[in-house]
Amino acid sequence: MKVRFWGVRGSTPTPFRENLRYGGNTSCVEVRTPDNELFIFDCGTGLRQLGKSLVEEFGHRSIHAFIFLSHYHWDHIHGIPFFEPLYNPENYFFFHSFPSHAQSVQAALEEQMSDPYFPVNMEAMAAHRHFYNLCNDALSYGASTLRTAQLNHPQGSLGYRLECNGHTLVYATDNEPGEPDCDRRVRDLAEGADVLIYDAQYTPLEYVNSKKGWGHSTWREAVNVAKDAGVKNLVLFHHDPDHNDPFIDSIVHEASRYFPNVTAAGEGMELSLLPTGIHIGRFPGERRLDSRHPVNLPLVVYGRTREGLHFEEHTTLENISLKGGYFMLKHDPDPRDEINVQLRISPEMGGPLGEVALKSRVVRLDESVEDELDRKGVAVTFQ
Ligand SMILES: [Zn+2]
Ligand SMILES: [Zn+2]
Repeated sequence: MKVRFWGVRGSTPTPFRENLRYGGNTSCVEVRTPDNELFIFDCGTGLRQLGKSLVEEFGHRSIHAFIFLSHYHWDHIHGIPFFEPLYNPENYFFFHSFPSHAQSVQAALEEQMSDPYFPVNMEAMAAHRHFYNLCNDALSYGASTLRTAQLNHPQGSLGYRLECNGHTLVYATDNEPGEPDCDRRVRDLAEGADVLIYDAQYTPLEYVNSKKGWGHSTWREAVNVAKDAGVKNLVLFHHDPDHNDPFIDSIVHEASRYFPNVTAAGEGMELSLLPTGIHIGRFPGERRLDSRHPVNLPLVVYGRTREGLHFEEHTTLENISLKGGYFMLKHDPDPRDEINVQLRISPEMGGPLGEVALKSRVVRLDESVEDELDRKGVAVTFQ
């Protein structure tokens, strides 16, 4: 089984530079089975790029895909009107989800494209479209079986468990913990899975402070589910729009203290569930390196910690590139804030005594690199 992430963001797309390593498109995950069935979990904005990739791959051959929607919130359906293969009469799509408020899957999706929300309605989509209302069904597709579980989310959400050739993938997003029946169901669904893709929208602090009742989970609950259900690999998913790349890095780092086999979903990331084991690939946006030059310059960093406290710290710039630099820091800067980096230029360096102030943004917190002063590595880009 091969899994590819086309959209990993929750709630709304985030096409901003500080999010582009993990990606800004909303939920969409492609799965290919060894017998070449194509499954698509959710149709957020990531679906548009998947469509382009399928058109290129299939050429004149017909595309058959089974599509499973967790629910009908925008971040899970927004890609449908922009999915090119749906406009080709040679293609076949089988949409599955739960009927919403007595409205069928078909009616809920057709309404998305009705006047005045989109210039053409779903009739303009020439592909063969079939719609299936699911309710606790177990389904078979070739060598694959699929079952569902209702999750705890406003207006409902469905989690999916796909088994094929001895491997199990569970996709469970948009789920809030705390409802005992549902907490049990999600653990049942994830039981012994090779890979669990799970809603980790908030930090535990964000959740208790202001996000209770919003229908989402935290990385800590993701870890709890993974441990309770004996999951082998956990993929944190549905990233909050306000969590930039270094912030997600720090969430993964924190989660890995409790559950080592954890990663965060990133756009373009591929997982392979092979007889020899599970291979989790890096994603193309990861570690975008430009050429770095070692330096040794005195530096003062002004910033704000995650607790909101201002700090000033003297350190040394260790390397520099056209775009940014790297230094060690004792303080823990909030990656969502700008920090000011002040370079001290001394006469021995050939110029007049002076200071260069550079507005910067944290792009990576290297928690794995710690020196004898208990400092960790910080990579920044200059603004
Ligand atoms: Zn969502
Ligand atoms: Zn939702």
